[in-house]
Amino acid sequence: MLPIFNDIISLFYPNYCYVCGTPLTKIEKLFCTDCLFNLPLTNNHLYIENATTELFYGRANINYGTSLFTYNKASKYKNLLYELKYDDKTEIGFELGRFLGIAIKESPYIKYVDYIVPVPLHPKKMRIRGYNQSTWIAKGIADILKVKIDEKTLIRNTHTKTQTKKNRIERWENVKSVFDIKSELFEGKHILLVDDVITTGATIEACINAINNSCNTKITIATLAIA
Ligand SMILES: [Zn+2]
Repeated sequence: MLPIFNDIISLFYPNYCYVCGTPLTKIEKLFCTDCLFNLPLTNNHLYIENATTELFYGRANINYGTSLFTYNKASKYKNLLYELKYDDKTEIGFELGRFLGIAIKESPYIKYVDYIVPVPLHPKKMRIRGYNQSTWIAKGIADILKVKIDEKTLIRNTHTKTQTKKNRIERWENVKSVFDIKSELFEGKHILLVDDVITTGATIEACINAINNSCNTKITIATLAIA
């Protein structure tokens, strides 16, 4: 790209690291080299048994699971997830989704997927927020894997209240019947179910159960972060 266009883009997109706020150089994108280098990667995709997969043992039937990085309340990387979810910074989802896509491509445990399926937002939330953060992660993954995204088969039924102040049982009660399957598209297929963060896993568990109740589908989970 011509330097002039880079400068014009700079006017619209702030060239500061989304993690630490340091000004970025022209070759850095969204994060400074330091923050990118120190991203607490799980490398889950290289292990048959890992924290993402194990979280669903005895709860839901999955083929495999992987998450790109770990985070906790004190982590400076938490900001990335917040900005992606609430502050229109969809490019964070796309870029980190590409990293996740590269990890998936490298994984010996994820050979081939038929569809990439973002965990759906309720239409009401979608109207308010204007986008589904998981769709942007899915777009990044799709850019690497060259696999179609499907958002018409797994849908969300009812509006659920915010998850933040609930314990694990309450969260599960809250989401267990909110997802539904609208067609037979996933029958006999392998899907990659995508979300931004796993905390208790209740939302993903509810999606898996909705899918497994209606069709014979192999499900692999991919998330940006795991708490
Ligand atoms: Zn930084």
